[in-house]
Amino acid sequence: MVETLSKYIGQIRKRWGLRAPRQLYRMLKLHQTAFDTILENMFATLEEVSGLFTFPIVASIAKMKPELVRLIESEGHEVASHGYNHVRYPTISAHARRQDLLRSLQVFKKIGIEISGFRAPYDNYTDDMPELLEQTNLIWDGGFGYRPEHRERTHFFHVEIDGQESNVSYIPLNMWSDDYMIDRKGMEPKIISRVLKREMTKIAPTEGVIMFDLHPIRMGQKKYVGCFKEVIEHANSIGGWCTTPTEAVKYWNTHSKWKGDSKFCLLLTGDIDNWVFSDYLRRVLWRRRG
Ligand SMILES: [Zn+2]
Repeated sequence: MVETLSKYIGQIRKRWGLRAPRQLYRMLKLHQTAFDTILENMFATLEEVSGLFTFPIVASIAKMKPELVRLIESEGHEVASHGYNHVRYPTISAHARRQDLLRSLQVFKKIGIEISGFRAPYDNYTDDMPELLEQTNLIWDGGFGYRPEHRERTHFFHVEIDGQESNVSYIPLNMWSDDYMIDRKGMEPKIISRVLKREMTKIAPTEGVIMFDLHPIRMGQKKYVGCFKEVIEHANSIGGWCTTPTEAVKYWNTHSKWKGDSKFCLLLTGDIDNWVFSDYLRRVLWRRRG
């Protein structure tokens, strides 16, 4: 056991350098809360303020607990694809990227979930990925917009493909993610709420859209889950519409404004990369071998 663990730590150290043991310990601690509980915490909080949330899920993980994926959808929230394996797309071939994306969509179809949106693992895209996305039925992408040149945008945007505008709507992704705020900056819940509210207040006058990536593994913990309530209450108080990307994109494409004449649109999203700690370890090992 000790030998196995030290091997794991060695692998992870290669990836994160000196931060490795700390990151490993952090994930171990977070995964002590069962994912069922994490989701229950989130559903209860979101329901209090009628907020919707979108969960891009790694398909190879999704198929291990299809009942949780269906539960998310039956609670009225959205499920999106986060790829089949959690790999950095630029490190694999164009063929492998295509396979990974299509395989993920097949998995969700088999589970009985309709998928309209996608976010690549690590928000890491190659320049030609919009062409690939265009060949699917997806209507939105929530990761390409994390590129520095798109991050500061305030509206959905389209990418030019062979001189034509993409059908897929691209959504700018705000830089204030939970891993940045909690793991990197050590922020407490009060400060996290303050930052997210500040970012929304900035976007409101543009009548645009703001999307956050707030991973359930951190934000669904009892300590942080209350942030969702504060953020959605603030959004409501300044005329925001907190919905899912599919609903927002469809509405915008038809009406060129937000539902109920809302001033702006708030999209709360958070990727699910693993259900349990061993999923996390397996992935890290797999990556180094692959
Ligand atoms: Zn991820």
